[in-house]
Amino acid sequence: MTAPADKDTPKISNFLRQIIEKDLAEGTYAARQWGGSPGDASHHAAGQPDPAKVRLRFPPEPNGYLHVGHAKSICLNFGLARDYGGVCHLRFDDTNPEKEDTEYVDSIKDAVQWLGFDWHNGGENNLYQASDYFDFMYRAAEYLIETGNAYVDEQTAEQMRVNRGDFVKPGTNSPFRTRTPAENLARFRAMRNGQLADGAAVLRAKIDMASPNINLRDPAIYRIRRAHHHNTGDKWCIYPMYTYAHPIEDALEQITHSICTLEFEDQRPFYDWLLDKLAEGKLIASPHPRQYEFARLNLTYVLTSKRKLAQLVNEKRVSGWDDPRMPTIVGLRRRGYTPEAIQLFAERIGVTKSDSWIDYSTLEGALRDTLDPIAPRAMAVLDPVKLVLTNWDEVMGAGKLDECSAPVHPHLPELGKRSFKIGKEVWIESTDYEETPPKGFFRLFPAHTNSSGQAIAASKVRLKYGHVIECVGATKDANGKVTEVQAKLIPDTKSGTPGSDAIKVKGVITWVGVNDAVQAEVRLYDRLFTVEHPGAGDSDFLEELNADSLKTVTAFVEPSLADVPTGTRFQFERHGYFVTDMKDHTAGKAVFNRVTGMKDSWVK
Ligand code: ATP
Ligand code: MG
Repeated sequence: MTAPADKDTPKISNFLRQIIEKDLAEGTYAARQWGGSPGDASHHAAGQPDPAKVRLRFPPEPNGYLHVGHAKSICLNFGLARDYGGVCHLRFDDTNPEKEDTEYVDSIKDAVQWLGFDWHNGGENNLYQASDYFDFMYRAAEYLIETGNAYVDEQTAEQMRVNRGDFVKPGTNSPFRTRTPAENLARFRAMRNGQLADGAAVLRAKIDMASPNINLRDPAIYRIRRAHHHNTGDKWCIYPMYTYAHPIEDALEQITHSICTLEFEDQRPFYDWLLDKLAEGKLIASPHPRQYEFARLNLTYVLTSKRKLAQLVNEKRVSGWDDPRMPTIVGLRRRGYTPEAIQLFAERIGVTKSDSWIDYSTLEGALRDTLDPIAPRAMAVLDPVKLVLTNWDEVMGAGKLDECSAPVHPHLPELGKRSFKIGKEVWIESTDYEETPPKGFFRLFPAHTNSSGQAIAASKVRLKYGHVIECVGATKDANGKVTEVQAKLIPDTKSGTPGSDAIKVKGVITWVGVNDAVQAEVRLYDRLFTVEHPGAGDSDFLEELNADSLKTVTAFVEPSLADVPTGTRFQFERHGYFVTDMKDHTAGKAVFNRVTGMKDSWVK
């Protein structure tokens, strides 16, 4: 059983699609060569015309688990590549030696694949790591030095900060700015050879200290850092800065459209400055990649900061990165979200060039809309109270059970039927009984006198897929809590039998038979935060955690749910969508997670 293929989801145009369509129409990248792997200009020149019409990339830093914001970026980049005859590379941006971990590398690969994407293209495996480009990055730095476009600055960090100026004040040239290329080359090699202490010098691009764009005021491109790197070990004691490394990574991989979030907009002039210089020197192929920015995903009630998510995990506010309340891809997956739902969500929110907040209900809506057409139905009673059919023995026979059936899915008859048995005792939701019902309550209530002194007859309701019953009353404990409800079965009213609808009822309730019910632990998850913008302004996001984000109940579910595999999704009629938990559901103990309710319960 699969959700509608994503390829069939109507595609809404957006500015990125328009840019790509224009480039394809104009043949901007039509003459590109591809050397079969990332490389410099001559490597690609010796290759073939690129079979990929466009190349995009998803470039995570392997320093944490991916979240729903990354999912948007994955769907965007891999989706555009798929739609336009291109490929998308998965590139680990591992140029920062201190923060990365191979545990994250595996989890990221897993997340991309689970979302339904692949970095393989024919025989080509487009899985790359930026640290493989350190040699080229070093060579490009020497080229910049030789052409007078970079210099080694030995001011202190503080001097550099002061001399950078600010938004109103232009910067001041460093006294080291006038060094000759030969001097700079010698100093840069000294940096590389470990002759200078950490922080004693940086290599800076020589652009314009008076530029209104502070990012162009001679940005640092290499720093000294004696740190072990998970890929290159202790080979390097200098590491490229992200703003220098990233454009080069794109260029070596022949990326055509480099899509990033809006905060990098001010970096675009440097991106182009750098790649223009390297293309001029024929170090990289032309035309070089272009950067385009889109608005990051901000989702209400959700944190999308790796640092803050890590804090929730480290302080044990959640059970781990894959806690079903976490907005991580592993968390969403365990919660019961499907790749199809996340892809649909990404398609619906689209891409824009200005920041906005997406309502959490959009994510839930995508889940409902993808699961409703396919999820098998089942009845479950989450807050059970026993209902006794007092006349069962006379009407049906003592100890008798009567088989009822229901379609697995109301619109997919090919999925067949499920069956379960009704007997003298069934479980119903305790909220389906009221001694003195409020106006508009059509479920179980006994004969009573209402607040205006009117005599009201006992209600008649249908046990879904079963019989019509008439409420008699209930037994209560010393605290007034209802411990058992009683009703009479009305003969010849069983669903699907002739004349069964002779008695009209206003209420239909779900139930499971005491005799064949399966007991299950059900985890009722809700939003992790009570406020739309956790941690916004000066607020402490830890204070805004929803104390009721997890409620665990012992429920009864219908017998068709005995022994279902982990990760199976159902619609529990009236209750919403549920999945068997990936970690804790076993053959001996059923554990279901609520993915989301039938409708948005947070509507204002
Ligand atoms: P964080 O700030 O949470 O650490 P990040 O942006 O540093 O996230 P990266 O690993 O650098 O994480 O991100 C990989 C890619 O995912 C980048 O291209 C980035 O633009 C994109 N991305 C990250 N967060 C979001 C978001 N909220 N919405 C859309 N794209 C995002
Ligand atoms: Mg980042």
